Amino acid sequence: MSIDYPLFVSTWTFGKPANEQSLKVFQGGGSILDAVEQGIHVAEADASNPSVGLGGIPNAEGVVQLDACIMDGEGQRAGSVAAIEGILHPISVARRVMDNTKHVMLAGDGARQFALAQGFASVELLTEERRTEWEQWRVQNHPPDNHDTIALLGLDSTGRLAGGCSTSGWGYKLPGRVGDSPIIGSGLYVDGEIGAAGATGLGENVMRYCASFLVVEYMRQGLHPEEACSATIRRVIAADPRPAEELALNFVALDKQGRYGAAGTGRGFEYAVTYPGYSQVLQSAALSDTDVGPEGGNRR
Ligand code: ASP
Repeated sequence: MSIDYPLFVSTWTFGKPANEQSLKVFQGGGSILDAVEQGIHVAEADASNPSVGLGGIPNAEGVVQLDACIMDGEGQRAGSVAAIEGILHPISVARRVMDNTKHVMLAGDGARQFALAQGFASVELLTEERRTEWEQWRVQNHPPDNHDTIALLGLDSTGRLAGGCSTSGWGYKLPGRVGDSPIIGSGLYVDGEIGAAGATGLGENVMRYCASFLVVEYMRQGLHPEEACSATIRRVIAADPRPAEELALNFVALDKQGRYGAAGTGRGFEYAVTYPGYSQVLQSAALSDTDVGPEGGNRR
């Protein structure tokens, strides 16, 4: 079946309803950037999703702090917010940073004050369910290991690319911790001439390698998006002393030709692909310690 446009690729099963909303927005006359932004709203507003927006897992002090960024392949524009509190749609605040300021990134209370000045409402993002879990966590103090991100990439029939990502980050993180998701080139990268890539997993292991930028650079060298994701992971596996399973690295990628793919450590992960007449959750390629390739300067 040949691909039709617009095409949306995103992380996890919760990416599918987000992609479908993106398609609706585009078909309703929105740009590919509008479509990406408003698709991400679906995950941000879903209180049952513990990884993004409303109902996200709080930090160690019980406060939900959100990270998000957006990129427009046209003009290489970007906007980002980090550790923002009490705003339902951080992806839209990131877009306002991109559209309405001279800056790329706002953090913490400055990001929140900017959002309020732009007319965003102040909301309580911590749900009762997450508060109860957090109270139990404080007593038991078991290691926090819950996290996910929506990274959503879009391409229209004119070749315009856009991407965004949004997350509540690593559950019970230290207050003020910022992950990979709002860092341009780490959690997300869009190059309007080449393609787009986004990440989910342990942000600390993405940021140290500027990994979404690296995925796009591999696509620039001619690799298929899935192979570009795999090559990036192999490079990190080769460079990092820890076992691949512990790294928890997962990438989605989409190139300007409409090819897409994904790869993750361990068993890999699920990602969603949507275009007119098609919307599916697919399984990514899976990489382990034995998959170290020539890219990495293998230290093992
Ligand atoms: N990358 C996100 C972070 O570290 C979490 C995730 O996607 O699993 O904040």
